[in-house]
Amino acid sequence: MFENLSNRLSGVVKTLRGHARLTEANIQDALREVRMALLEADVALPVVKSFINDIKARALGKDVIGSLTPGQALIGVVYEELVKLMGEHNDALNLAAVPPAIILMAGLQGSGKTTTTGKLAKLLKEKQRKKVLLVSCDVYRPAAIDQLKTLAQQLEVEWYPSDVSQKPEAIALAALDYAKRHFHDVLIVDTAGRLAIDEQMMAEIKSLHASLNPIETLFVVDAMQGQDAVNVAQAFNATLPLTGVVLTKLDGDARGGAALSVRNVTGKPIKFVGVGEKLTGLEPFYPDRMASRILG
Ligand code: GDP
Repeated sequence: MFENLSNRLSGVVKTLRGHARLTEANIQDALREVRMALLEADVALPVVKSFINDIKARALGKDVIGSLTPGQALIGVVYEELVKLMGEHNDALNLAAVPPAIILMAGLQGSGKTTTTGKLAKLLKEKQRKKVLLVSCDVYRPAAIDQLKTLAQQLEVEWYPSDVSQKPEAIALAALDYAKRHFHDVLIVDTAGRLAIDEQMMAEIKSLHASLNPIETLFVVDAMQGQDAVNVAQAFNATLPLTGVVLTKLDGDARGGAALSVRNVTGKPIKFVGVGEKLTGLEPFYPDRMASRILG
């Protein structure tokens, strides 16, 4: 998805050949290429600007040592800065709460919230042997409630029934009570999403958050949304104390810039990435692996 960046950078490696150190003059073209590639990949402009400045500051005057060519030295700096931009290391899910640990799922409709809820349940059940309860608080779309129920049945994970006549908060609190009485380790609360951000939706999820006090509040965002992903992330981050981000649909032809911007604009770690429609399509996010992928 970052073919452009790796292609552009390999051109840069050639142009820098023969120089013994990186200077303002000789890295100018290289930085222009990096900048263009990032913008083409939908990375938000302010993020691109500060990224380029950081690379420049670190690369300038760098002596090229050993067998490295100046181009390789610059790519080394780009790699390290990409890793830094995406948060350095993997942030694991935090379940250190008096059981049940509550995970609240937030995001727009179609972002992949319900699918991710199922994927997380599978991971927690199979990899961590957790007893998981799922509940849907999407009282606006009966289909969403059914979708979660179907996923739960498929995964052989328990779900707490809800219907559209109930209030989201009442559903969530009843599910929490049930989870406590039945010794569930984790309760994952799927919430309503709208096609766009609106005040009512934000107020609703805010009050759900206040009454549940979840240990994890995950913001699910579609990487295919490009620049828009950043705006939506900012709006959710301003409303809710998010603890992490799940970036979905990275398997598609998303230009991937969201992966670079979302962490930067929210300050919240990307904990997982969605890499397919199937329930196995969820992976922990590793900034170093992503940076390697980006650089090709
Ligand atoms: P919600 O409205 O946020 O709950 O979104 P859904 O979970 O219903 O997902 C919307 C669509 O995106 C569905 O068709 C999912 O199969 C699809 N989807 C979700 N996550 C991924 C992913 O990581 N990759 C791909 N390719 N599709 C996904």
